[in-house]
Amino acid sequence: MKAAIIGAGIAGIASAIRLAVKGYSVDVFEANDYPGGKLSTFEHTAPDGGVYRFDAGPSLFTMPQLVDDLFRLAGRNPADYFEYVRLEETCRYFWDDGTRLTAWADHNRFAREVEAILGEPGQHLLDHLADSALKYDVTEKLFLQKSLHKLGTWLGRDALRGYLNLPKLGVFGTMNGANERRFQHPKLVQLFNRYATYNGSDPYQTPATLNIIPHLEYNIGAFFPKQGMVSITSSLEKLATDLGIQFHYKARVDAIETTGKQVTGLRVDNQIIPFDLVVSNMDVVNTFRKLLPNARQPERILRQPKSSSGLIFYWGINREFPELDLHNIFFSNDYQAEFNQLFGKNGPASLSNDPTIYLNITSKHKPDDAPPGHENWFILLNAPNNTGQDWDTIIAQARQHVIRKLSHVLGVDVAPLIETESILDPRSIESRTSSSQGALYGNSSNNRFAAFMRHANFSHEFGNLYFVGGSVHPGGGIPLCLLSAKIMSELVAD
Ligand code: FAD
Repeated sequence: MKAAIIGAGIAGIASAIRLAVKGYSVDVFEANDYPGGKLSTFEHTAPDGGVYRFDAGPSLFTMPQLVDDLFRLAGRNPADYFEYVRLEETCRYFWDDGTRLTAWADHNRFAREVEAILGEPGQHLLDHLADSALKYDVTEKLFLQKSLHKLGTWLGRDALRGYLNLPKLGVFGTMNGANERRFQHPKLVQLFNRYATYNGSDPYQTPATLNIIPHLEYNIGAFFPKQGMVSITSSLEKLATDLGIQFHYKARVDAIETTGKQVTGLRVDNQIIPFDLVVSNMDVVNTFRKLLPNARQPERILRQPKSSSGLIFYWGINREFPELDLHNIFFSNDYQAEFNQLFGKNGPASLSNDPTIYLNITSKHKPDDAPPGHENWFILLNAPNNTGQDWDTIIAQARQHVIRKLSHVLGVDVAPLIETESILDPRSIESRTSSSQGALYGNSSNNRFAAFMRHANFSHEFGNLYFVGGSVHPGGGIPLCLLSAKIMSELVAD
């Protein structure tokens, strides 16, 4: 049996591995000349000839067991392909007024830190993390591990547990509301509101159920792949190749061929190639609009509001900053105003003049990612998804705001330290990965029905067509993309 995967994003590669293990002969068609989609890498050459390496997209790695599972499934030892370490420090937080706080992986140490620096009773933090674990435990099996679009999911024991625990899930309040009730100090509310951005949502709209996200980082852990985030992609691509999967790069799929209620193959470079089964890792909106224009379009799902996007500055910095770590956040002074602007509540969606800055520096853990004495700065600002804004003006203004804010908090003029630069914005995210509107995480989760408004992992119209990746169930981010591949493979008959 021959299977085709459209796209070598992380979910596409995971799907290829799962289908190969099931005995399929698998071909992966990728429009770019590299694998990984958003999870890829590139380099800058410094003026003195040294090299800065950057991970292009994701920087936070959680739930590494989902990557390990793929090696084990194929009968391999994960450590032969891929190594990672658990971080002791989850993130360093900075505010304009000089407050600095480290989120430690050790809960008690983190609790002591918030008590010492913010005067917040440490027990509040411990309670929050315990609540996050409970929410995760109840929702994981129901919402993340199974198809929501099969009746069996709603009749089992896990569903019953979900129904019984519904009041504890926070479905009816917002994340911000729950965090304001939990914490006294506005800075801690802001810190935990930030987790809404992990799937591109707005903490002032998204349901408190998304307070499950800190569980991944603090209870299961935040990790660093020893060879950088791209080694998630490269190690899985290596496994796939070892399993005999064929990768075709610079091979954009132009159409999914169908006859009646079956997919018959793909059109690539004006050639029709027959397949028994097709999995699309291309954004679901573009899969329907571009590859299946004559099929029934599931408009209600395709038209859902999209998650936020990102504006990323990749800077080679010719100095080291000991006060910074791998993950650093510089918070805005008015978080709610920032999100109102991002999601266009009071006008066109745009970036705040005082954006929250996420600064990731992999050379802190992988020194060869920057020349000696230098650092590779990956600066991510939450940005609205692309609706045709004047991005060139927005980017120029944002660059000034970032330099001003970092210079203020770090006490040194950052501008002259930037010796190499490249930029990724919602337009280029859209054109490089076919993400609808350049959204980082598919649909937004800003309403309580969002989980039900993502497309299923199978086609309702064509018996042998499946969907995986950040734009479909269970959602965006590396762990959920990997789970989408698992759900898909469980739906495919052995
Ligand atoms: P994608 O990465 O979207 O790739 C899809 C692939 O399909 C692309 O390679 C594309 O070229 C290919 N394709 C599309 N159409 C066609 C076609 N017609 N023919 C052939 N090929 C096609 N997640 C985290 O877990 N942690 C983070 O810290 C994090 N930070 C992020 C930061 C940024 C800047 C970005 C951009 C994303 C971030 N994410 C993060 C989200 C994460 O990267 C994505 O959810 C995930 O990588 C999406 O994977 P995917 O499998 O859906 O495919």
